[in-house]
Amino acid sequence: PATARLNAIESILARSPVQTQPPAPLEELWASDVFTLEKMKSALPKTVFKSIQRSIKEGTKLDASVADVVAQAMKDWATSRGALYYAHVFYPLTNLTAEKHDGFISPQGDGTAITEFTGKLLVQGEPDGSSFPNGGIRSTFEARGYTAWDATSPAYLMDTPNGVTLCIPTVFVSWTGEALDKKTPLLRSNAAMNRQAQRLLRLLGETEVAPVNSSCGAEQEYFLVDAAFTALRPDLQLAGRTLVGAPPAKGQQFDDHYFGAIPERVQVYMQDVERQLYRLGIPAKTRHNEVAPGQFEIAPFFEAANVATDHQQLTMTVLKATAKKHGFTCLLHEKPFAGVNGSGKHVNWSIGNATQGNLLDPGHTPHENLQFLLFCAAVIRGVHCFGPLMRAAIATASNDHRLGANEAPPAIISVYLGSQLEDVYSQIRSGNLQGSAQAALMSLGVDTLPDLNKDPGDRNRTSPFAFTGNRFEFRAVGSGQSVAGPLVVLNTILADSIQWIADQLEAGMASGASLEDAAFAALKRTMDQHGAVVFGGDGYSSEWHRIAVEERGLENLPTSADALPVLQRPEIRDLFERQGVLTPLELESRFEVYAEQYILAIEVEARLLLRMVRTQLYPVIMESMGGLAASLKAQKKVGLSPDPSVLSRMDALCQQMLEGCTALEAAMASEGEGVHAHLRHCVDALLPCMGRIREAADALESLVDDASWPLPTYQEMLFMR
Ligand code: ADP
Ligand code: MG
Repeated sequence: PATARLNAIESILARSPVQTQPPAPLEELWASDVFTLEKMKSALPKTVFKSIQRSIKEGTKLDASVADVVAQAMKDWATSRGALYYAHVFYPLTNLTAEKHDGFISPQGDGTAITEFTGKLLVQGEPDGSSFPNGGIRSTFEARGYTAWDATSPAYLMDTPNGVTLCIPTVFVSWTGEALDKKTPLLRSNAAMNRQAQRLLRLLGETEVAPVNSSCGAEQEYFLVDAAFTALRPDLQLAGRTLVGAPPAKGQQFDDHYFGAIPERVQVYMQDVERQLYRLGIPAKTRHNEVAPGQFEIAPFFEAANVATDHQQLTMTVLKATAKKHGFTCLLHEKPFAGVNGSGKHVNWSIGNATQGNLLDPGHTPHENLQFLLFCAAVIRGVHCFGPLMRAAIATASNDHRLGANEAPPAIISVYLGSQLEDVYSQIRSGNLQGSAQAALMSLGVDTLPDLNKDPGDRNRTSPFAFTGNRFEFRAVGSGQSVAGPLVVLNTILADSIQWIADQLEAGMASGASLEDAAFAALKRTMDQHGAVVFGGDGYSSEWHRIAVEERGLENLPTSADALPVLQRPEIRDLFERQGVLTPLELESRFEVYAEQYILAIEVEARLLLRMVRTQLYPVIMESMGGLAASLKAQKKVGLSPDPSVLSRMDALCQQMLEGCTALEAAMASEGEGVHAHLRHCVDALLPCMGRIREAADALESLVDDASWPLPTYQEMLFMR
């Protein structure tokens, strides 16, 4: 078996960076594969262009005659680039991207065929998609789901060496209008946030208020492992992470990988990825080595949340597909290697509009600062009321391995504000203010808030949710996740809290208070009731875990089995319904789908672990023990007294491993009644068994003859490229 491992190593040593497309200037690459507004402008009659532009800006429905003209222009552009097919791209509840492909072909009566694409085909497709998990929304007799173009996200081309496909980003809804996807709630949550944010801005005296949109810049961490190694690791192929593997003698202790020189083969890969992203109009900006060996990061310039989300999905697709061309496997799993840093996806998020700018930017005048303090207070209140929901939005089997693992944010959701801002809010809370609120704000120095916390030195890496100068960074999101879910939650809890604050302002001013006094009262009340969620200390410390739960009343939801049921709480159902983001049925379906995905993920891993241990490890271990035993016997025969302790130790570990397998098999046979019991069963029965098996297998890996070990080791996978 080990010959395969040696062959893999040899093939990797012989690799050289793969030549890709020749470099081209940015202007040439940029959005060349996107049907941009600019391209529409030159292809469409003025009135049609105006109408589509309005649809994009205001999110209104395209009318049928306009859709026909747009479809025609889109098809002409795509076919001129060689496209024969188009695909409605949608985002089911699986975190993946789904596509339904159709030809432009339209056979004519006379035996010829032409290309055709109508407005109807553009704005509405029927992928059916009845095999996607939908949590029981669609009973089979009305199993139809349909996709509809989201005009706020542009169409683009994807090519294979053999042809080009026009891709159209769509929402995916049931025949009866329920959201079956991740995009629909995102659009709704943005609309809810826009309604309340505009209302608050008007209360603050703004007369001209443009639509408010949320923005997102998602930093993506990933691992690259040579594809020759992945081919020998069934666990990397099926589960995306190693289920066994002893730690290497050298890990990340030296911190020599972080921001180190990027290896050439990797750099060539990154450049290939970036060129494709530029062509797709995705503003990739930053690349660097991450903390763990073999770990890297790519971050784009931020964009409107909806477009950023589609672009993030595309980025994951391009990262994975391009890795194959370069002989790598790109691992987006949150914890591919035990004992080594995991991968996250920091979701940078803010809200803003064309008239008032970034609403989470402190600004330079007392008025701007007041506005900032109110919006920021709304975020604080949202996190305090709905922290458990934020935890639920990042609950996956894979992210559970990372959260709270002493290198990633804890599973307790708190807010980090930075020392200056935390100080401002605690002064507001102490109410230790004289005179009018306006004067008080000034005396706090609020009129001269410095550029807060923009120095990365002041970053708190241990907080799950941190203010970083002009935005919040949700750091607990998993590397393999769609950012849609976390953004839906952030927009929705913000909408709800802005509403709560705006209600108080309205009431206060109606009873004669000045804007400043009413605003100040609202700020103080927010901090009195919700200040407990603000935390600037070490989020990894056990002391914080105790204080958070015992003194601050925050919830610690360590696993998905604890977090997912949050989606069924009455206050969460009310929140989504009140804000018009998810109906109770849609929310319940999400709980069901996510719970099922969690259970499936763990059960697949359990089955795979049994298979690997029994068919790959056990035979090799037995052979190795047999060899040792024979050697011991032979030595005794010639009168030596060899030390049998290594063999005894192997024997004990092998027993532990086999007993673990028996116990795991038994546990898998009884799953408990109902989904809640099933979730708990995964956490309380399956995972601990898997842990015991792994412990024994990893100890054996460092005793068995290395020349016969069948699986590429951590050292090989992390350091060879
Ligand atoms: P760091 O690693 O220091 O957090 P990066 O430069 O890697 O910083 O990533 C910061 C991310 O935050 C980028 O994607 C950036 O575009 C994004 N960002 C900056 N301003 C905003 C904003 N107003 N809204 C959303 N994202 C933002
Ligand atoms: Mg970062």
